[in-house]
Parts: sequence; C-alpha cells; structure tokens
Amino acid sequence: MSRLLDDLQADLAGLRRQSLLRSRRSNALPCGPWAEVDGRRLLSFCSNDYLGLAGAPELAAALAAGAQRWGTGSGASHLVSGHYDCHDELERQLAGFVGCERALYFSTGYMANSGVIPALVGRGDAVFADRLNHASLVDGMLLSRAETHRYPHADCAALESRLVASTAKRKLIVTDSVFSMDGDIAPLAELLALAERHDAWLMVDDAHGFGVLGPQGRGALVSLGLASWRLIYVGTLGKAAGVSGAFAAGQADVVEWLLQKARTYIFTTGAPPALAQALLASLALIRDGDERRAHLALLIATLQARLAGSRWRLLPSSTPIQPLVIGDNAAAVTVAQGLMEAGLWVPAIRPPTVPAGSARLRISLSAAHSLEDVHRLADALADQERDLGGKRPAS
Ligand SMILES: *Cc1c(COP(=O)(O)O)cnc(C)c1O
Repeated sequence: MSRLLDDLQADLAGLRRQSLLRSRRSNALPCGPWAEVDGRRLLSFCSNDYLGLAGAPELAAALAAGAQRWGTGSGASHLVSGHYDCHDELERQLAGFVGCERALYFSTGYMANSGVIPALVGRGDAVFADRLNHASLVDGMLLSRAETHRYPHADCAALESRLVASTAKRKLIVTDSVFSMDGDIAPLAELLALAERHDAWLMVDDAHGFGVLGPQGRGALVSLGLASWRLIYVGTLGKAAGVSGAFAAGQADVVEWLLQKARTYIFTTGAPPALAQALLASLALIRDGDERRAHLALLIATLQARLAGSRWRLLPSSTPIQPLVIGDNAAAVTVAQGLMEAGLWVPAIRPPTVPAGSARLRISLSAAHSLEDVHRLADALADQERDLGGKRPAS
C-alpha cells in the first residue's frame, strides 16, 4: 500500500489544470536562427547561442577531430584518471583569457555554481545573494548550509546594511553578471568595493557575459578592468561558446581549494576530452569574434530602434537579452502564440520566474541572425500590437 503514485498523479493533474505543466518542443534542425518543430519552420529568438557558434562548422570539425584523437569518454573522474592534456590546456587558456591566475573546468555551469559555493562557505558563514540570481547559485547557497541573505536586485545599499549587521565568520557575495530574464548588468565595481570594505569574497556568474562582453569577449570582469584575489569568476561554455561545460577562475590557491573541495568537480566523471578540444577551437573563434560581436550589437540597436514606439516596453539592456514587457500573463501568452502562428518562436516568461505583472517575451539575439530576421520580428510584433488593438496594456 502506498499513496506515493496517486499523490504524484494528482499533483500532475493540478499543474495541468493551472496551465503550469511544462512541455518541450523537439527541434529537427541544429541550433541556429531556424528551427523545425512538428514539420513547421520557425525563426527562433530563444537560444543563448549569442555568437552563433553552436552550429558553426569549424566547431563540429574540431569536435569530430577531438573524438578521433581522444575517443568518446574520459573513463573516470578528473582526480582519478579522467584528466587529459587537452583539459589542462583548456584551463590554462581560459584563465589567461579572463585575466585570472588559474581556472578549473566543470561539466556544466549548474555544477560549477552548486559546487563552488559550498566549497567556500559552510555553517557559521554567510552568503549574500542578489534576489534575481540564477537557480544554480540558489541551490549552491542552500547546499552550503551557510546563513543566506537575499538582497533586493542590484541594491548595494541594502546589501551593505546586511554585510554590516552580519557576524558570520566568512562572507560570500554572489551575483549574476548579466541577469538572465532582464538582461541588465550587476554593479560589479560597487560589489567588489563592498567585498573589500567588509572582507568578503565576490563570486560572479558570467554565464551570459563570457564571449560577449569586453574586448575579445573576455567577459564582465575584463570589460570593467576588475581584478582581485577576492573575485571568483564563473564562465559557462554552453552559451556564447556554443559547446558545453563551465569553469571557475580566480587566484591560484582559491582554485586549488576548489579542486580539493568542490564535490561537483570531484564526484563526477571527467567531461569527454573531445569537448575540451572543441572548446579550444571555440575560444579561438571567440577571441577573433569581433565581427560577430559587432553584428550582434547592430542587431540589438536595430531591435531597440524598431520597438521604440511600441506600446510594449523593452527593458533597458545592452546585452543580447532583450525582454519585452507585456505585463499581463494571458496577454504575454497570446502574443507569443500569435508570433508562433506567424512562424516566429519567442518564449513568454511568466511569474513566478519573473515578478507578477511583468510577464514578458524574452527575445534573445544571436550573431547568427540577419538584420532581416530582426525586421521580421519587429514587423510581426507590430501586427500583434494591432491585433490586440483597442485594448490598453494592463499598465
Ligand atoms: C545557464 C546558466 C547557468 C547554468 O549553466 P549550464 O552550463 O547551462 O548548466 C548558470 N548561471 C546562469 C546565470 C545561467 O544563465
């Protein structure tokens, strides 16, 4: 006798009733501006493939060559025997690229974030986290068992008063660099100044900045000229880098400590060396990617210019994440469905992922888009605006 399955099925039915059941759409094409879902071609503005590298033939060739050279699996965890020359080379190059002494390559960004925080702080310590931080940072914070303080988004004054009041042994400030649902950038220089003033670490998750921000795409810290032993930088490699994986970088002893203590690094099989080989090729494309970044900047400026007169407001963002606030949940879904019928795929993001009343279309742009693609999106949005006509926006 058990109610386990009955309860679970009732809960699933509940999600379905509230339209909260999530489902996946299967794409028949490789990652790129065009998708094919249920036999329909769609122009997609969903991916985090900001430089258009996920489908780049050079990287597919590097991955294939990597597999020829290294086979498929690593065979063991990094600390046993699953660590290869190309992993070392990748870590050396990543560290240099983002201006840190040393880097440690993790299998995913989720694992980097959920492993780094518990390695640095524990019981008796405190984590100070921006309220809009990514779920992987939240989970790392919970796993650490440190006391947690979530401060209002980008609010340095609120953060400082919490730092002042804290009697914790060790303090860690944690923030996204570019916030994934808003596209805005954290006040990193001010956060580092606070870390210095209150003797804290500062961990920066640059998932959406690596490859995009700064000279040669070297990321958020280099773009602001920030360097300090207090900084722990996390870059992810499945977004602009177009492959998969992540790395934590910082002062050499800090990274040595992560290697000794991060459980998500230690207790997992090393990532396939062929991926590291593909990532070395990706890094070269990122480094030489000024044209891609310039094109992306042009797309962003074009979208902003085209939507300037819209009844819907683009959030102020200089990054490829351009959220268009619709406000009302049902209206956001209606607009996304209308776009889908017109052959455009743009995700509608609703509460609780974003605050109530700020349901939005999360438009994300990629260097693989053409100017024409962006005009097509703007035209389709204008059609939607007209179709919803008469009705005023839910403020
Ligand atoms: C995507 C993302 C991650 C997770 O990285 P994965 O490599 O996809 O696991 C972490 N932080 C932020 C802000 C992200 O957007």
